[in-house]
Amino acid sequence: MHFKDLGLDQRLLKKLNHLAFNKPTEIQQTAIPVGILGKDVLASSKTGSGKTLAFLLPAMQRMYRSKPFTRRDPRVLVLTPTRELAKQVFAQLRTLNAGTPYDGTLIVGGENFNDQVKALRNDPMFVIATPGRLADHLEHRSTHLDGLEMLILDEADRMLDLGFEAQLRRIHEAASHRRRQTLMFSATLDHADVIDIASDMLNAPKRISIGHSAEEHTDITQRFILCDHLDHKQALLDKVLETEDYNQVIIFTATRADTDRLTKELNERKMKAVALSGNLNQTQRNSIMSQFERDCHKILVTTDVASRGLDIDKVSHVINFDMPKHAEEYVHRIGRTGRAGNKGDAISLVGPKDWKSFKNVEAFLKQEISFSTIEGLEGKFKGLKPAPKKKFVKKKPTSKKPVAKKTDSAKPKKKMDKRFYDNMAVGDNVFVPKKKKPVDPAKED
Ligand code: ADP
Ligand code: MG
Repeated sequence: MHFKDLGLDQRLLKKLNHLAFNKPTEIQQTAIPVGILGKDVLASSKTGSGKTLAFLLPAMQRMYRSKPFTRRDPRVLVLTPTRELAKQVFAQLRTLNAGTPYDGTLIVGGENFNDQVKALRNDPMFVIATPGRLADHLEHRSTHLDGLEMLILDEADRMLDLGFEAQLRRIHEAASHRRRQTLMFSATLDHADVIDIASDMLNAPKRISIGHSAEEHTDITQRFILCDHLDHKQALLDKVLETEDYNQVIIFTATRADTDRLTKELNERKMKAVALSGNLNQTQRNSIMSQFERDCHKILVTTDVASRGLDIDKVSHVINFDMPKHAEEYVHRIGRTGRAGNKGDAISLVGPKDWKSFKNVEAFLKQEISFSTIEGLEGKFKGLKPAPKKKFVKKKPTSKKPVAKKTDSAKPKKKMDKRFYDNMAVGDNVFVPKKKKPVDPAKED
């Protein structure tokens, strides 16, 4: 199949040809025709499979082929969980857009608010944003979304994880009209929270799922190594960096403090490492990312702030110095390598503190994972035993007559949303997802 078989405009085909994109990926083959028809889409496919073009091309097609609803409001809005990902989507749009009037505007946190107000006053047609900052602009009335034609949520589940549900709903309300088209994309979309918000924001969506998120990513070689303690982890990391033939590496740690400590250690040993964490200001974040993209540093040490979406083709290795707290983040972290058909390596260090997270990842991947060792650095730790199940102790019956308990039967019982059941596998515990507060929006919007 070729891009020309998908019903795309000649001008877009010419651009794709010029950019040497010859064959659409599977997700592009499936999602683009549906997107072009104006239907809502809820799509998942593995990391590095070309989801960005799968939503940008239908959006571009709309710009080329149809008249705007209004001249004032943005026509297309793309939301992403992190500023870095928004920038990358923006850059990809720019390469597609070069030489056309359909310029994009980037609206992310950490940048000057008033400059953004000015940019929005120019009535951009295409806005790429992080949800926190865009919601602030709605509040400030520097933009309106009454005429929005297309709302695209990239990595929708991560935006919910970060606690941006209220902002997403606010944006949805501001652009709530019958003719709006909504697309949601991620490699992991099976969460109850996602299904919940998707059922409110999408209208009879076409569900597209290319492979399951837990399916093994065959382009990525995954290794897991057990370690005893921090010094052992450090020794293993040194050995890995010494022996692996890497191009560029991303190392994930649990916290920002770990990121800084590890970067310092590596640099003391003359390894060119740089730290990216959410507590830096935006200028610093931008400069670190652009230096890493230009290959000025071989190693990027970071937290989950960089686990989503980033596409840097020289990243040959991902190392989990600490295992991620959320199992699905493992899939996204390792997905920073092995992109667009390239091969990649993922190495995870599993110590006693990582054991619980490791077991969650193992369950998420639905595989029994075996461990590798490094000669001369074998440890003693072999995993933790599962905690013994609490025995059920039957209470002795009391002779007293039971006093009638006050019940809340007058109150109607909270009805469990059927959608949660629909999303459950047999044997899953039924749960109601907690509403989360945004994680420090100053840092992560
Ligand atoms: P995802 O969002 O699924 O993780 P991206 O959209 O970031 O993946 O794309 C991953 C890489 O694949 C990018 O470098 C992109 O330029 C490239 N790519 C996308 N579509 C194609 C295609 N049809 N042919 C070749 N490369 C592609
Ligand atoms: Mg992506």
